[in-house]
Amino acid sequence: MSITNVQTQYIPGFDNPMTSFKFNPGDDSENSSGTKSFRNIQFINSAGDGYGAHSTNFGDIADKIPPKPSLKASCEKCRKRPDQEGPGYSVCSSCKVSRYCSRECQTSHWKEHKRLCKSRVSHLETERKLEAAAIRDNGPFVSQAALRKWYYDNIDIVDYTIVQTLELYKGRAHNLWRTHAVVFSLTGGKKGTSVAASFHDAEAASWAKLARPDTLKLAPEFLRLHGAGVRVVLIFILNGEDDMLLIESQDLPAEDSEEWAGMERDEMWRMHIRMRKMAKMMLEKD
Ligand SMILES: [Zn+2]
Ligand SMILES: [Zn+2]
Repeated sequence: MSITNVQTQYIPGFDNPMTSFKFNPGDDSENSSGTKSFRNIQFINSAGDGYGAHSTNFGDIADKIPPKPSLKASCEKCRKRPDQEGPGYSVCSSCKVSRYCSRECQTSHWKEHKRLCKSRVSHLETERKLEAAAIRDNGPFVSQAALRKWYYDNIDIVDYTIVQTLELYKGRAHNLWRTHAVVFSLTGGKKGTSVAASFHDAEAASWAKLARPDTLKLAPEFLRLHGAGVRVVLIFILNGEDDMLLIESQDLPAEDSEEWAGMERDEMWRMHIRMRKMAKMMLEKD
């Protein structure tokens, strides 16, 4: 069963959110595509003493994430970042993804970049065929470039999500970045190269889970190309469809960076994740 419309509502005011809860399934009718929607899953504290006036869904949480301007890609070799206002670094002419601050950086990175570059180029060829088929059959299609644009445009949500799902606030040594990737679920229109996607959900998924054929059909080889265990690996999926996904990787802050000290665990986020898991379990029991 696919879950497209689970929204958790959170009623703030608890020290211990696990004291007691109940589900109010509300409208559990099935929509035209046969997907069950639970629109009104509420969290209620044991005292029931009137926090209910204010409830929050996940969209509100995403709105509270401190905004950052969209990201200009860093140099793949030396990790330097271009001036936000400037034109950005020049791009690899083959894959049109990786960027370099200088000729020297590009040349010395080629040995390392070659395999990923080739796999991107071959994906672009596949993509052209998929797009042609989608146009012919009026079927769904999304380009990698469109998903990548969402990633760079929403780096505030991406960064925050990485900190929370991989528990980076525990410090560099005690979190999940070596063993897990972050899977971002996006929803939105899926028309070719201009996808108006919005953030729906995110979770940390272990390599072991990701390598299973019943999840995302990701070859472990592909994860290695993206630097699993070296950098944070991000997977973006549109509308829960596993052929509409993008894998990217992002640097952790440097070991001595002050960013680590600024990271905090967000209880609201934890609540959302717990609620979503419970809702999912409920739906799967049906
Ligand atoms: Zn460089
Ligand atoms: Zn390239």
